[in-house]
Amino acid sequence: MSLLRLISCLRHSVQRLETALAEVTGLDKLGPALAVHGGGVLKEPLDLNEKEDCPTPSFLDSIFWMAAPKKRRTIEINRCRRRDPRKLIDIKTNIEPCPECGNLKQKHVLCGFCYAKIQRETALIRKQIFAMEGKPLNTPAVETVVLYKDEIPREFEKDKRIVERERKRPSWFIQH
Ligand SMILES: [Zn+2]
Repeated sequence: MSLLRLISCLRHSVQRLETALAEVTGLDKLGPALAVHGGGVLKEPLDLNEKEDCPTPSFLDSIFWMAAPKKRRTIEINRCRRRDPRKLIDIKTNIEPCPECGNLKQKHVLCGFCYAKIQRETALIRKQIFAMEGKPLNTPAVETVVLYKDEIPREFEKDKRIVERERKRPSWFIQH
């Protein structure tokens, strides 16, 4: 039997004796006021055999290990990674001028300038409707027709709610 194993056996028997004494004297019922988990602190298993016999929890077991870099990366390597050509923004080839206003826009995407223009006009129309009717609850349950300057309501538009604008019809505001 190796010396280490002998020491380990002796330690275990001393521990068992302590436990038995505590039970006899009734001291095991009186716990310490502050219990600190120090069972396995700095006490590594002496060899593999002992580990199998009596698995003492190591203090390393209670630590949540996370991956951490072992070596510092140099600034050259970091810059090579950051400025890699694959990370560059792709050059867009799907850009064309808007047929309405001429500003550049992406193909198959609404022109932002034209959209803002329409938004402005729609907001003005809403404002005018609000001025006409006062409250949203006064809205009649019919369709709305927007008529511009010098336009007269057509036959099928006569029963509808008509909003008359005082400007000429913009080219992009198509009448259906
Ligand atoms: Zn446009």
